[in-house]
Amino acid sequence: FDTAKFGQHILTNPLVAQGIVDKANLKPTDVVLEVGPGTGNLTVRILPACRKVIASEMDPRMAAEVQKRVLGKPEQKKLELIVGDFIKIDLPYFDVCISNTPYQISSPLVFKLLSQRPIPRCAVLMFQREFALRLVATPNTKLWCRLSANVQLYARVEHIMKVGKGNFRPPPQVESSVVRIMPRDPPPPIKFEEFDGLNRVIFSRTNKTLRAGFKARGVGEMLEKNYRTWCAEQGVIIEDGFDIRKKIDEILEESGYSDNRAAKMDVDDLLKLLAAFNVAGM
Ligand code: SAM
Repeated sequence: FDTAKFGQHILTNPLVAQGIVDKANLKPTDVVLEVGPGTGNLTVRILPACRKVIASEMDPRMAAEVQKRVLGKPEQKKLELIVGDFIKIDLPYFDVCISNTPYQISSPLVFKLLSQRPIPRCAVLMFQREFALRLVATPNTKLWCRLSANVQLYARVEHIMKVGKGNFRPPPQVESSVVRIMPRDPPPPIKFEEFDGLNRVIFSRTNKTLRAGFKARGVGEMLEKNYRTWCAEQGVIIEDGFDIRKKIDEILEESGYSDNRAAKMDVDDLLKLLAAFNVAGM
């Protein structure tokens, strides 16, 4: 195991560690999921405040370390370790997630938490500063991007605190921030692949108008292929001379977003645009 590969930057400032746990507003009945407990600096603060901690740790040496820390203490019975890659394991039930995350899995980690059912109450997570700022970004700002829109469709996200490099051993190369993610419950009845698919198209050309963005190479072909599949399934007959580009222009025109730019569109705008495509069978 090498420290860099597993992002093993241990949070050594006890005030920051306690601050993170406090921000989760734990109840004594809560089951807490911790991703990457490392040597257990957060774990030992979470344990007294909840019913049970389930910790997912990839490095068996680290897992042994946390276990050693609670050995023979009443907390030992409350700690369940799952040794393995968080991204690959099936998650058991939990109410709250707390983690000083391994930064190399930031994005899949967030989406794995958001797709968990039943929906967790909240997640308090340490991320690389830039990633954290993208999560909380609003339209019309430089950091508003596909990630911001995809996450904010499913959750409210708040920036909780900045954490400098000096609070870790060894210090990471980047600054960090803690965010709190509060999933919307019930989740919006939107097909994520469709919402993300739309965002993929329009956020790769954030400052172009949608009309121009949809003319990018490959986009028309991809939409036409999907549309033909959908028509075949629905028994819809495609007329001769069908032109995907014309159809896309019509949908954009009717939606009223043709001259808009992704950089300025909020989640509601994106949902309306998706609905316009859906109505047209796309
Ligand atoms: N939570 C500890 C702390 O605050 O001091 C350590 C956090 S350290 C940034 C990240 C931890 O996640 C390391 O212990 C590392 O071994 C573990 N880890 C890395 N990749 C992982 C993965 N895919 N699944 C589970 N744990 C992982």
